[in-house]
Amino acid sequence: MTTELPTPTTDRPAPGQLTFRAPRRGKAPTHLADHDLAGRKDWARELGIPAFRADQVSRHYFERLVTDAAQMTDLPKTGRSELVEGLLPPLLTPVRTLSADDGATLKQVHRLHDGAMVESVLMRYPGRVTMCISSQAGCGMNCPFCATGQAGLTRNLSTAEIVEQVVAAARALRHGDLHGGEEGTHDAQEALRVSNVVFMGMGEALANYKASLGAIHRLVDPAPEGLGMSARGVTMSTVGLVPGIDRLAGEGIPVTLALSLHAPDDELRDELVPINTRWKVDEALDAARRYFEATGRRVSIEYALIRDINDQAWRADLLGEKLNARGRGWVHVNPIPLNPTPGSKWTASRRGVEQQFVERLLAHGIPTTVRDTRGSDIDGACGQLAATV
Ligand code: SF4
Repeated sequence: MTTELPTPTTDRPAPGQLTFRAPRRGKAPTHLADHDLAGRKDWARELGIPAFRADQVSRHYFERLVTDAAQMTDLPKTGRSELVEGLLPPLLTPVRTLSADDGATLKQVHRLHDGAMVESVLMRYPGRVTMCISSQAGCGMNCPFCATGQAGLTRNLSTAEIVEQVVAAARALRHGDLHGGEEGTHDAQEALRVSNVVFMGMGEALANYKASLGAIHRLVDPAPEGLGMSARGVTMSTVGLVPGIDRLAGEGIPVTLALSLHAPDDELRDELVPINTRWKVDEALDAARRYFEATGRRVSIEYALIRDINDQAWRADLLGEKLNARGRGWVHVNPIPLNPTPGSKWTASRRGVEQQFVERLLAHGIPTTVRDTRGSDIDGACGQLAATV
């Protein structure tokens, strides 16, 4: 059975049309994870709750991943449910969980309070668990090869709606819902926590800057303020919103930046990644280089290889030259075989062509790794998250 995404309040975008401002829909209820610790205490006071309760509930939420009032026995019994409901209103309702790669990949589909849907994908690798999260319902960037972009932007997510995806997944891990590590081994132990989070699900995270930055804080701030993940394990992905990249560089949080480039020349990139009509290839690459200089974090260049469109050897050479023109050792390229979406004319490059593209980049001295396409059989890979259930 297929239930379509509720009709977005935007129309399907015309080719090349960019949508920066999300149509206003009902705002998500305020949640503990929307605030830092000091903000939570102020908010609790406003609700007539003693500030130290915000601390207690933070421990349950960020350390124990618990939202069930019955398990919070350090809170007074009288009024406990109301207190917990006030601070931790339910934001995501699980709609469906799909499994692939012998249980090592899980796609979780969630319904938000207003009926909008978002998806996140959990992938287990030896020694780590990577999670791909959504920052918007839909996306306004309108890349023509991407299922999410074709449906338009429904709305921005709140900080807590972004964080909740990770907390829900961490809980699923604790319950042993993700397979892949050998039981009883070090690997199985390691996999009990989310080690890497990438903002590569639905949406352009830098177009929802404030909420995404708040989510980064909640991921990396030590418990009970946040989940205490390493900033190095967090990757912020963008199609190249240059002011957003510069702003993030100034935040002093060394998360990794991934720039979805997909073409080294403006002529093609204007078509493949319409944001290029605002900020050109050279401007995006200059911003990426500045990001490296500010954070010391090597930038990832994402390059979806699309058959006969952007996979020519000369484009690999041009990319290598443009990266080297900005210095050595600051960048890494991830070619990604495109995940074909139904009804789309875009498809993945031939194997030999992919291989040649990689070899050309390596010949320029650019570290290059083809990214795997985990989850492609459940539409859970990059550019395929369109939230149909
Ligand atoms: S590829 Fe990314 S930025 Fe482009 S439309 Fe899809 S989700 Fe948005």
